[in-house]
Amino acid sequence: MCHTTNLDHSPRNSVGMKAAAGVCSARGARAGLAVLLACAVISISAGTASSHDCMPRRPRPPVVLKDMGPCRFDPLTMSFSGEPMMQAKCLMRGMDASRNLVPTLESLPAALAERICGDTGLPTREALSAFLSKQNLEWDFAAHLWQPLSRGNDNDPAAPMARYFVMHDTSGPSFGRRAFPADIDVNPKINNLAQFKCSDGWGVAHVVINRTGQMLLNHDFATPWRATKFERAVNFAGALKGLFVHVEMIQPRRSAGRSRWNDAQTPDPSFTSAQYDRLALLYVIASVRAGHWLVPAFHAPIDAHIPNGHDDPLNFNIASFAESLDGVMSKLQQMSDASSATPAPLVAVGAAAAPSATGALLSYDALTRERQFHGPLQIGGGRCGGAG
Ligand SMILES: [Zn+2]
Repeated sequence: MCHTTNLDHSPRNSVGMKAAAGVCSARGARAGLAVLLACAVISISAGTASSHDCMPRRPRPPVVLKDMGPCRFDPLTMSFSGEPMMQAKCLMRGMDASRNLVPTLESLPAALAERICGDTGLPTREALSAFLSKQNLEWDFAAHLWQPLSRGNDNDPAAPMARYFVMHDTSGPSFGRRAFPADIDVNPKINNLAQFKCSDGWGVAHVVINRTGQMLLNHDFATPWRATKFERAVNFAGALKGLFVHVEMIQPRRSAGRSRWNDAQTPDPSFTSAQYDRLALLYVIASVRAGHWLVPAFHAPIDAHIPNGHDDPLNFNIASFAESLDGVMSKLQQMSDASSATPAPLVAVGAAAAPSATGALLSYDALTRERQFHGPLQIGGGRCGGAG
């Protein structure tokens, strides 16, 4: 029957009758008609749904890996194979028309290639906090800037901090053989983030972004949260919980073939500019909290060698993401330039000052802890998850 899950949404080649929240993941031909009808009801009502329970009603079947995936995860180093750039080229692979992984990328746009793993151009927490406050994002995102990201092994202080920024799409709602509505990017029902709110704390990912660029924070990036089968595999005994942060983007699907259950067709564009902009901003936020640019990754290659793998984020445009990243960084720089040219006010009062005041202490603690467990801060393979 329909179930909620924070992990296994959008199984590749599966039935596409799923609410945008990924709450109704009927499994292929094994799903009965009654299940599909029940799912359809949920799918329709999801647009007006408020907060609801999302925890799976039944235990999920255990995942046992036969290998460490196409990007060859090494449990000893707690990272995928190769230097961070090589990892990103492997982990940012999308699906081809037959929904098989494309080969490892030969290159990445400069916006990513010049940043990944290093700390090139990372804004200060203060600058980023001011930037977020201007967009009314201080309480969800600026307030946590001085806290580090989650750590592996369910926030084990001795485990490495999160290394992978994983991008997903909701693969829903599914329109079957029906055409996408013309207002798909602004339609309030399709873009209603309330359907992802979970009263039991089982939100699908850390953050969900709708097609207008609104965001729902389900879990702060300091909270260990798994959203792939790979992380959940019994092979790791929970060690990967906290090593990845996850962002979902709403992407309706429809049939690309004869079957109404096929869900391989995405809207065009598959994601909106507003979504890429927000995704880039979240990438900056997570990277600032890590102290270096994280390794960007797609869900699809992480679960590629696992049965009922995933195809998301489908038709992701890496160039658009890179453009948005440059755009966010440019705006941050402009704001920083403007503020340095303006004399500081004598008294700083207001809500936006609160996170910074607290953050100064947290920042010291975070840096101390980083040095305590991982030695002096430096750019290197060990800290960024490379082979070195
Ligand atoms: Zn996913």
